[in-house]
Amino acid sequence: MKAEIIAVGTEILLGQIVNTNATYLSQELANLGVDVYYHSVVGDNAQRLDEVLTEAEKRSEIIFLCGGLGPTEDDLTKQVTAKHLGEELVMDELALTEIIQHIERLGRKVTENNKRQALTIQNGKILANHNGLAIGTYYQGPNHHYILLPGPPSEMKVMFQTEVIPILQQNLPKQEQLFSRVLRFFGIGESQLVTELADLIDHQTNPTIAPYAKMNEVTLRLTAKIDRNEQAQKMLDDLEARVQQRVGAYFYGYGDDNSLVDETVKLLKAHKKTVTSAESLTAGMFQSTLGNVSGVSEVFAGGFVTYSKEAKVKLLNLSEEELRKHGVVSEYCAKQMAEQARSILDTDYAVSFTGVAGPNMLEDQEAGTVWIGVAARGEEPSASCFKFSRNRQAVRNAAIMNGLSLLRK
Ligand code: ATP
Ligand code: MG
Repeated sequence: MKAEIIAVGTEILLGQIVNTNATYLSQELANLGVDVYYHSVVGDNAQRLDEVLTEAEKRSEIIFLCGGLGPTEDDLTKQVTAKHLGEELVMDELALTEIIQHIERLGRKVTENNKRQALTIQNGKILANHNGLAIGTYYQGPNHHYILLPGPPSEMKVMFQTEVIPILQQNLPKQEQLFSRVLRFFGIGESQLVTELADLIDHQTNPTIAPYAKMNEVTLRLTAKIDRNEQAQKMLDDLEARVQQRVGAYFYGYGDDNSLVDETVKLLKAHKKTVTSAESLTAGMFQSTLGNVSGVSEVFAGGFVTYSKEAKVKLLNLSEEELRKHGVVSEYCAKQMAEQARSILDTDYAVSFTGVAGPNMLEDQEAGTVWIGVAARGEEPSASCFKFSRNRQAVRNAAIMNGLSLLRK
């Protein structure tokens, strides 16, 4: 299979940014056994992009386009490609809903331009964007495969790893079979993970290791290229063992689809344990996250949303006087919230959240300061303090992910 990578963007032609996307894609495709024969760069210009597409079709079977999926007028990759293919652009309702929700959460008004990021080529397949808003598209023509990816590298990489590799695997000839295994980590950043595994990553040939980061978590894809499944699994087992030896403490599960909450619910079910929660700054998000998992009722009875001090006193019977003494953004409060929630509902575990989502300070504590408490039946409650340095929504998300992680320990 012959591939070509077309980077779209006047910034690249002007030398303002380096075309690292082409480098990344070339390395990954080489590992997958796909031959990259051409790199092209074209500015944000409809006519020249159309011409480059025509050229690429003469010499390549798989055509990657990256950049120009965003909301502004100069982002025209989808428009030009659709016209070139004789297809319409259509709005993906699910992507549109996500974009609207995201922009409204930021307190901004949704413009017509924002909606452009939810456009896709009719008769194509949507490629989800796990780190941004603009969706990608895969389109299979009679003689060519077209893969449209976003420009920002963090978005492009995750889309390539989670959405594109499975498509390539389906289309590769039999003798070029690939077997991959996806390992997911939480509580370690991408750069630290890469540092811990630097020598394994530097010396990789077969199997290969590809790291990529999504919101709040890091993923590794291990890929073996060999035509026999048993041999491939053995190669992946060996490599995984070496990875686990170094960063196993942060490992939580396999696969691109299972999230930390799915894995946590699975674990609770396996041990026949129940959980509840008392939430202040997260205001029910943790419970709602649990509620997203089907069959969670086996392990989750319900819980408490205690945003104000008064609610903490009235619903959880916390002592008003002690709260005044320690403050609500405190180890004391987190432990008490967890222990009271657990004992009131008589569950095996409880997780509590109290802190400053921001943007303003509370009790002289910086935005992003969060105490997470965990109570377990028959044990003293514990609490951990986190300092998240992001916006309000990201602080609350990070709190939920860390709450799940603490519960698993
Ligand atoms: P956005 O929604 O951010 O507009 P987009 O898909 O429209 O995304 P572009 O507008 O083309 O992408 O590029 C956005 C940013 O992504 C660029 O400013 C640059 O930082 C980065 N980028 C784009 N193309 C490349 C590339 N080929 N290599 C490395 N970085 C790139
Ligand atoms: Mg753009």
